[in-house]
Amino acid sequence: MINQEIEKKLNKQINLEFWSSQLYLSMSAYFSAKGLPGFAHWMFIQYQEEVTHALKFFNYLIERGGKVILTPIAAVNTEWAATLDVFMETQAHEKEVTERIYQLADTAIANRDHATQSMLRWFIDEQVEEEANVQAIIDTLNLVQDNGYAIYGLDKELATRVFVDSTQTAP
Ligand code: MG
Repeated sequence: MINQEIEKKLNKQINLEFWSSQLYLSMSAYFSAKGLPGFAHWMFIQYQEEVTHALKFFNYLIERGGKVILTPIAAVNTEWAATLDVFMETQAHEKEVTERIYQLADTAIANRDHATQSMLRWFIDEQVEEEANVQAIIDTLNLVQDNGYAIYGLDKELATRVFVDSTQTAP
C-alpha cells in the first residue's frame, strides 16, 4: 500500500496536471480567436499532453492501490495582452510544475518509495523538455517583436507540432 503523504501529493499532482490542461486549452482558444491557428494548434497539443500527464499519475496511483480523488478545476485566464505574455505565463507555470515534481521526488526519497522515484524520472525529464520548448518560443518572440511576417512564419512552424500519447509508453 502506498504511503499516505505520497498518495495525497499524487492526488494534488493529478489535479494540477488537469488544471494545466485547462490553462493550455484556454490559451489555444485565445489564439484561435486571434487568427493564429498554428499557435492554437501548439497549445492544443500542450493541452493533450497535460491530460496524458494527469492520466499517467492517475493510472500509477491506482496501480499502487491508492485512491484517486478529483477536485473541481479552478478558473484559468482567458485573455492576455500579448502573445509573449501567454508564453511567459506558460513558462512560469511549468517552473511551478517542475518544483512540485521535485517536492514529490523529495517525499518519495524520504519515504524510501523507490517505485514512485522511478515513475517520477519520466516527469523530471519531461519538465526539462517542457521548459526548453517554451524558452525557445520566448526567444523567438523576443527576436521578432511585432514583425507580422515573422509571426506568420512562426505560426506556420508551430502548426507542425505532433502529439505523442505518452500513456502508451513506459512507465
Ligand atoms: Mg505536465
